[in-house]
Amino acid sequence: MAPDINLTFLGTSAQIPTAKRNHSAMLLVYGGENILVDCGEGTQRQFRKARMNPCKVNRILITHRHGDHVFGLPGLISTFDLSGYNKTLYIYGPKGIKRFLENFLGLNYVKRDFEIKIEEISGKFFETDDFYLEAEEMEHGIPTNAYNFVKKGQRRIDRGKLKKSKLPSGPILKKLKEGKDIVHEGKKYLAKNLTYTEGDKKVSFVLDTKMNNKIVSFVKGSDLLVCESSFDDSLKETAKEHLHLTVKQAGEIAKKSKSKKLVLTHISQRYEKDLKGLLAEAKKVFKNSSIAEDFDSVSI
Ligand SMILES: [Zn+2]
Ligand SMILES: [Zn+2]
Repeated sequence: MAPDINLTFLGTSAQIPTAKRNHSAMLLVYGGENILVDCGEGTQRQFRKARMNPCKVNRILITHRHGDHVFGLPGLISTFDLSGYNKTLYIYGPKGIKRFLENFLGLNYVKRDFEIKIEEISGKFFETDDFYLEAEEMEHGIPTNAYNFVKKGQRRIDRGKLKKSKLPSGPILKKLKEGKDIVHEGKKYLAKNLTYTEGDKKVSFVLDTKMNNKIVSFVKGSDLLVCESSFDDSLKETAKEHLHLTVKQAGEIAKKSKSKKLVLTHISQRYEKDLKGLLAEAKKVFKNSSIAEDFDSVSI
């Protein structure tokens, strides 16, 4: 069985943090990958509260360089250094992220013994045999990215059919897994009869942006869509003016993209006392919606 993809919400507030909600940060763990999406102020302490080790992070995806999404980076990098972090740290983001980080790193506050690679990316920017990462440009006044993590569906042996075929287990199955037919003791075995292909698994992150026509196609068929929802529908004009989304729009994106699950984040302090109303608005459009709390965890 392939490992689960696990997502932990380390911070779920909008611009201003509250007693219950820290600034934006999410950690996606898959196999040996620990991918942090955004790093608002205080993120490293959120790791400790969640009893997770921040030093396992090997990639950081930054949506944009507004403070509530990046002010945790200097502290986190400093802690990495103090903790003997000894791998290459990859930081990806839209145009401008390089200058932002190099300005900080250039101040030499942190004596660094490890390498940081900063890449300004768009489109598909990282790929292994097993998964890929891609970015799409959003509209938020400054360069901003939405991200997809996509675990590629693999061809797997159908154990039930294998048993019936009397073909022995072992290295002989490698070719079948690659989709190739095999011959064993004079008998031909077709890969299509003994294997099946799993579907892709997709996790999408749409943080700060105003509604735009790129979102739905980018997040199409997501298994887990994480979407900002800074305003309720009565404030849709304000949302537009401030280049943000409403909960209703987040629900519409989930519905139109045929996503399976919607988790709302980037929650404004104005809704702290009435999250039910906010959630009801999303559910009216898209049933499988929930509002993330700090330290919530979802596996797919
Ligand atoms: Zn924000
Ligand atoms: Zn922003």
